[in-house]
Amino acid sequence: MSIAEKIAAIRQHIPEGVTLVCVSKFHPASMIREAYEAGERIFGESRVQELCAKQAELPKDIRWHMIGHLQRNKVREIVPFISLIESVDSIRLMDEIEKEAARVGRVVDILLEVHVATDESKTGFSPEELPSDVQLQQWPHLRVRGIMGMATLTDDEAEIRRCFSMLRKLNRWEILSMGMTEDYRIAIEEGSTMIRVGSGIFGCRA
Ligand SMILES: *Cc1c(COP(=O)(O)O)cnc(C)c1O
Repeated sequence: MSIAEKIAAIRQHIPEGVTLVCVSKFHPASMIREAYEAGERIFGESRVQELCAKQAELPKDIRWHMIGHLQRNKVREIVPFISLIESVDSIRLMDEIEKEAARVGRVVDILLEVHVATDESKTGFSPEELPSDVQLQQWPHLRVRGIMGMATLTDDEAEIRRCFSMLRKLNRWEILSMGMTEDYRIAIEEGSTMIRVGSGIFGCRA
């Protein structure tokens, strides 16, 4: 199947109100162009260097999402153009984005990454660590739009649903980014409003 055919097949399962983020990390700009020609405008990348190179090369109406762990010393490079930073996983990172956003006079949309899976990898806030609304006032150049999370990597559908359901209950904003190639259909059933699909569109990464 071509990229356009894969996108069309996935879009059949996406109800209105759910946003598709095409995760293009590790794939060349030529493949992003194919998805762009098929009508897609939102792309997700996980590395700053790759994100910046692609942003410079590709059409300017693409809305780029940062979905991978973001180092504080790389924040400056993406703040001028990023559409949504989905992977905000610490207070120190919020401080850094605030500083850069204030410097360039932008308000940056972010999602707070929340850790609910039982895997070893523990990036993201734990549910208890999520900042309160009062705390959020410390960062006037950050606009929290929702949360992002992942389910445990497992075949156990009950465990996947437990993770997604927990994320839905924790979210106090409008965007709930959850669901990838293997589990986006379950995520949508559990209330996802934004899915991040990579290999299902672009194939396996090199
Ligand atoms: C790579 C990645 C995805 C896409 O995963 P696929 O299984 O290829 O669909 C989604 N979210 C994050 C945070 C990722 O790093």
